[in-house]
Amino acid sequence: MRVAIAGAGLAGLSCAKYLTDAGHTPIVLERRDVLGGKVAAWQDEDGDWYETGLHIFFGAYPNMLQLFKELEIEDRLQWKDHTMIFNQPEKPGTYSRFDFPDLPAPINGIIAILRNNDMLTWSEKIRFGLGLIPAIINGQKYVEQMDQYSFSEWLQRQTIPPRVEKQVFIAMAKALNFINPDEISATVVLTALNRFLQEKNGSKMAFLDGSPTERLCQPLVDYITARGGEVRLNVPVKEFLLNPDQTVQGFLIRGEHGDEVLTADAYVSAMPVDPLKLIMPQPWREMEFFNKLEGLEGVPVINLHLWFDRKLTDIDHLLFSRSPLLSVYADMSNTCREYANPDRSMLELVLAPAKDWIGKSDQDIVAATLEELKKLFPKHFDSDSPAQLLKYHIVKTPRSVYKAIPGRQAHRPSQETPIPNFYLTGDYTMQRYLASMEGAVLSGKLTSQVIVRRHESGGSSQRLFKQVDSKEVVGAG
Ligand SMILES: Cc1cc2nc3c(=O)[nH]c(=O)nc-3n(C[C@H](O)[C@H](O)[C@H](O)COP(=O)(O)OP(=O)(O)OC[C@H]3O[C@@H](n4cnc5c(N)ncnc54)[C@H](O)[C@@H]3O)c2cc1C
Repeated sequence: MRVAIAGAGLAGLSCAKYLTDAGHTPIVLERRDVLGGKVAAWQDEDGDWYETGLHIFFGAYPNMLQLFKELEIEDRLQWKDHTMIFNQPEKPGTYSRFDFPDLPAPINGIIAILRNNDMLTWSEKIRFGLGLIPAIINGQKYVEQMDQYSFSEWLQRQTIPPRVEKQVFIAMAKALNFINPDEISATVVLTALNRFLQEKNGSKMAFLDGSPTERLCQPLVDYITARGGEVRLNVPVKEFLLNPDQTVQGFLIRGEHGDEVLTADAYVSAMPVDPLKLIMPQPWREMEFFNKLEGLEGVPVINLHLWFDRKLTDIDHLLFSRSPLLSVYADMSNTCREYANPDRSMLELVLAPAKDWIGKSDQDIVAATLEELKKLFPKHFDSDSPAQLLKYHIVKTPRSVYKAIPGRQAHRPSQETPIPNFYLTGDYTMQRYLASMEGAVLSGKLTSQVIVRRHESGGSSQRLFKQVDSKEVVGAG
């Protein structure tokens, strides 16, 4: 089969990779001149990289880890100590850690929480533990039902003290979906907590050793093209052309010599949900399956890169800033081999929630961030010779991953659609991981699976690929 795929993000590339494994020929069409979508990165005139987002890989990403193995690039993941590090706003320049000992789950997680006495009191830890009991007993079914509540509402319902939200979960909600706990669905936070508590290495983090475009997307492209597939940049899909029976007749694309029609045996949208909605053919909009996509919308986020004249920290890990302006950050000169510099820091920081900042100038954003850095690194900014910013790059994504507010689970579509030769893939499609790199890779694998299944066995439910899955979430067993 020839399969046309619109979008060369991780979902589109993963779908193409698994289609080639099954002996088919994918043609991936990417609108932009760069691979990777939300993991895309660029090199500036000095040769320094800047990225769409600061990206962390977790131990709880089985499909992503298997992909690295299949591509034989596992050595590119730089695993860090099993710990979570939070800034302490009340004590500028200091950190509080949750250190996970080398013991089975959930004991390692429980010990990590119990040993940390900076952020939560004993009574807060106990009240939080008791609040989690329904999730432990009722498992994933309960976690899914909680999609009707925001995480703040869930905490209130479980009578968990508000300080627990302030101390830990503002940082976690911002890291997960770039929004605060009063907006994020309880399902999202509970799902992540379950992964982290149920799997020994679930919360263990790795950084890629360089830019995702070069170090992860390019090996995928090499793999696909070596097996007869194609990946074409600068080729936007402008329209899905339909047959009278509403199946896809072809993709109208902007090719090298103007508009052309690309035909295939099957068609996949690996576009994010926002641009997909824009080019959705009118007859499909009337179908409930496609109509419910109206309930999904990307959330704004901003990624900053700041190069300094000196080393600000030697911490080789992700940090939760616990700042109202910022979410997570890392000194990439420590965490990432290809960005390494023993003398100067390059901080990569995520600014979230970004809705009030996305329209502001780069200068305003940098000025506000530098004010925050004074609190994170007082030693280097409050001295007689404060650290000097050498240069910066800012990447704004006005619509990034879908905003996971309450009720969104019901809007997430399956990879299989009512149109027999058209499929969806992408982190927003239904899969058990959230809007993440793992979710994107898994969705691509699932999409390839349904395409092959429909084609080869006329709809039989037999699974052709192994979906590598971690354990069910807390208590689901
Ligand atoms: C700031 C930031 C930080 C993040 N941090 C993490 C993290 O730490 N860990 C984690 O797991 N995840 C993280 N994510 C999320 C992760 O990047 C995404 O979930 C994932 O990359 C989405 O992949 P995708 O293939 O579904 O979509 P995308 O990457 O958006 O790919 C869609 C592709 O479709 C293309 N396209 C759109 N329209 C057309 C068209 N008409 N024709 C052809 N092509 C088209 C786009 O250009 C794009 O390349 C982060 C995201 C951001 C923005």
